[in-house]
Amino acid sequence: MNIAMLLDMAASGDPDRVAVGPRDAGTTCAELRRAAAGVAAVVHSSGARELVFAGVNGPAFPVLLFGAALAGVPLVPVNYRLSAEALAGLLKHTERPLVVADETLLAEAFAGCEVRTPEALLAEGSAAEPAVGLEADADDPAVLLFTSGTTAAPKAAVLRHRHLSSYILQTVEFGSADPGDAVLMSVPPYHVAGVGSVLSNLYAGRRMVHLGSFEPEAWLGLVRTEGVTSAMVVPTMLARVVEHLDGRAAEVPTLRSLAYGGARMPRPVLEAALRAFRDTGFTNAYGLTETSSTIALLGPEDHRAALSSDDPLVRARLRSAGRMVPGVEAEIRDAAGVAQPAGAVGELWVRGPQVSGEYKGDAASLDTASLDADGWFHTRDLAHFDADGYLFIEGRADDTIIRGGENVAPAEVEDVLLRHAAVREAAVVGVPDEEWGERIAAFVVTHAGASVDAEALRAWVRGHLRSSKTPDVVVFRDELPYTPTGKLLRRQLLTPTTRKG
Ligand code: AMP
Repeated sequence: MNIAMLLDMAASGDPDRVAVGPRDAGTTCAELRRAAAGVAAVVHSSGARELVFAGVNGPAFPVLLFGAALAGVPLVPVNYRLSAEALAGLLKHTERPLVVADETLLAEAFAGCEVRTPEALLAEGSAAEPAVGLEADADDPAVLLFTSGTTAAPKAAVLRHRHLSSYILQTVEFGSADPGDAVLMSVPPYHVAGVGSVLSNLYAGRRMVHLGSFEPEAWLGLVRTEGVTSAMVVPTMLARVVEHLDGRAAEVPTLRSLAYGGARMPRPVLEAALRAFRDTGFTNAYGLTETSSTIALLGPEDHRAALSSDDPLVRARLRSAGRMVPGVEAEIRDAAGVAQPAGAVGELWVRGPQVSGEYKGDAASLDTASLDADGWFHTRDLAHFDADGYLFIEGRADDTIIRGGENVAPAEVEDVLLRHAAVREAAVVGVPDEEWGERIAAFVVTHAGASVDAEALRAWVRGHLRSSKTPDVVVFRDELPYTPTGKLLRRQLLTPTTRKG
C-alpha cells in the first residue's frame, strides 16, 4: 500500500474536515489531497528522483510528504539546522533532487541545485494539472531519513511505503479521533516521529497544528488557543516546559494525551511533568528511525498504575517503554546471539512489517549486520523485559562503560545523579584509562543557584550504587550537548579539552 492511500481514505471519508491549520481557516482533507497532487505534478515534470525538504515543521510538510508519494519519489527531510557544508554533504547522497528549502537556507546551502521555497512550490502546484497514476509501489521508498547518529559518515534509513503503511494500519484506527481533536506537532520533519505523526493523525482524523520552532511558552500558548487535545514531545522539550512552569500547574484543560519519546526520559522530569499535567494521560513511545517510529508503548493506564501501586514491580514501570505494538516481535539476545529469558539484560532485536533496517549512503555497507538471515533487526539498544512483557531500555550498547571488567550502563549512574537536588542534567561516559580500561566520567549541570562539589556527588552515587559504579571524575558544565531531537551527544563530551579532572 502506498501512503497516499491514507490521504485518499481521509479525503473520501470526510473531505471537508480541517486536516491542517487553524480551526476556522485551515486546509481541509480534500484541499490537502488537491495540493499534494499539484506538488506531485511539479515534481514529476521537473524530472526529479527525490524531493528534499529542508525546513521547519509546518503546514507544507504534509503536502510534501503526500506530494512525493503521489509523484512516485521518496521524500528526504533533512536537518535544516546543519551547516551549509553538512547539508551539501548530505545532498551528495541524493539522486536528482528537487530541493524545497525555507527562504533563509536558499542562498547558502543549495547553490547549484534546483530549489524552491515551500510557498513557491505549493503555488506552482496549485496552478498545475493534478498528477494522476504516478504513485509508487508498496515496495518503493517513501521516505529517506538520515539517522541522528553522531558518526561523521551520513547514512539514510530507507523506509518503504509498505513499512510506513503497516505501522499506521497496525497501530491506528481509521477515523478514531473525536470531531474537535487537534494535535500539536513540534517534532522536526527530519525525525521519524515527525513523519509518523502526519500519517497517524491524518488517518485518525485529528487536525494538525504546527509549532515550527519549539519554545515552552509558545507551545503552552498554542495548546490553549487551539484547544489542542494531544501532543508529542522529545524529553528535552518536556524538560524545558517543566522548567518554564517552575512548579506551577500547566493549565491546559483540553490536553488529554501527551506522548514522549525519541530518547530516554529522565525520571525527575517525568515526575515533575506528571505533577504539572494532572489531567493529561501520558504515553511513552519507544522506536527507531529504522522501525518506522513507535514499536513499544507505555500508555496512560500504565502510568497511573505505576504511580498509585504498592507493588514495586508495577511502580518500576514508570521507567518502562511499555509493551510491543501489534505486529512487532521482540527478542533479547546475548552477545553470542542466544535468546534470553525475561529479566535478563541483552541486546534488543525486533522483526515485523514496519521494520526496515535498510540503509543508503557512505556508511551503509558498515551496517549490513543490522538484519539477520531471518529478518530480525538489531536495535543496538540494551534492554530487558519483565515477566509481564514490559520493555525496559537501558541505553545504547555502544555507550556501555567497561571499567575493570565490570559493565556499567551510563543510564543507571545518570538516574542516581539526577535524583540529587542540585543536579539538573547529567551525562556519564567512559574515558580510556590504562589501568581500568575505562574510567567513569560524569558531566553535570546544576540547577541555577544550587551548589554541590564533586566529592559530594561521588559520595551520593556510592551511597546508592556499588562503589565500582562511582564516577572517577565529575566535570561541571553550563550545558550539555544534545541533538535537536533530544539525544545526548556523548562523544562530544570527550573532546580533549574535557578529558580532565
Ligand atoms: P532515532 O532512530 O534517531 O530516533 O534513535 C532511536 C534511539 O533512540 C533508540 O535506539 C533508543 O536508544 C532511543 N529512544 C527512542 N525512543 C526512546 C524511548 N521512549 N525511551 C528510551 N530511549 C528511546
